[in-house]
Amino acid sequence: MSAINLGGLIIDNVTLDDAVERVLGYLGTSGSHIIVTPNPEIIVVCQKDAELKRIMNSASLRVPDGVSMLVVSRLLKQPLKQRVSGIDLMLRLCDVMNQAGKRIYLLGSAPGVANEASARLLNKYDRLQIVGTHDGYFSDDREIVEQIKVTKPDILFVGLGAGRQERWLNHHLAATGVPVGLAIGGSLDVISGRKKRAPRWVQKLYIEWLYRLFREPKRWKRQLALPKFLYLTLVKKVI
Ligand code: UDP
Repeated sequence: MSAINLGGLIIDNVTLDDAVERVLGYLGTSGSHIIVTPNPEIIVVCQKDAELKRIMNSASLRVPDGVSMLVVSRLLKQPLKQRVSGIDLMLRLCDVMNQAGKRIYLLGSAPGVANEASARLLNKYDRLQIVGTHDGYFSDDREIVEQIKVTKPDILFVGLGAGRQERWLNHHLAATGVPVGLAIGGSLDVISGRKKRAPRWVQKLYIEWLYRLFREPKRWKRQLALPKFLYLTLVKKVI
């Protein structure tokens, strides 16, 4: 499997199918595997956050979560195959875990959201075992690690916001004994139904970012990451 370097972050050149296959491979092995979903925003943050950059680059799997990354990769003549977003990967994994009757744990988002997401997933997947949920506003890491450990999930989905979730997985996944931890950002908000994802046609036109900007104008500052990302990768050619 090949990987490319965008702004100093290693991005695995995988499709959604490849990523799922990789995760299934991790389930049968010992050790803890962190899966991250680098996007232009994180790549920009990592320019000034060496620790986060190290954590991202040392993850077992780093899937490309941004259409602009695909465009840039083509311009750099190292084309990425597909955008693989955290939520798409999470939902596909839930489907596969359901077929195998496996166990998952949902950690993150505001109080109540993980439970609502859990109820929605159980509606859809009758064999999926959701062995625990917890919101993402806790202060005692050890207590959460213990809770996760005793429930023995196969996959831990962690949505604590970019940066915090990757650091949390890096510090604690091994102690939970869970073989796979996936950083999912705000996916639980969407799965619970509290937030709407862009309609399919918007996703297909690659303008999901524009849709998010209209729905959550407060995010405009974060969208400044896009021109910075283009500058870093295409002009400054940081690797
Ligand atoms: N979140 C959380 N704990 C925190 C901060 C954020 O659980 O301490 C959750 C937040 O409720 C949201 C998700 O993390 O569901 C993603 O947050 P945000 O959109 O800020 O992050 P990003 O899109 O950068 O991952």
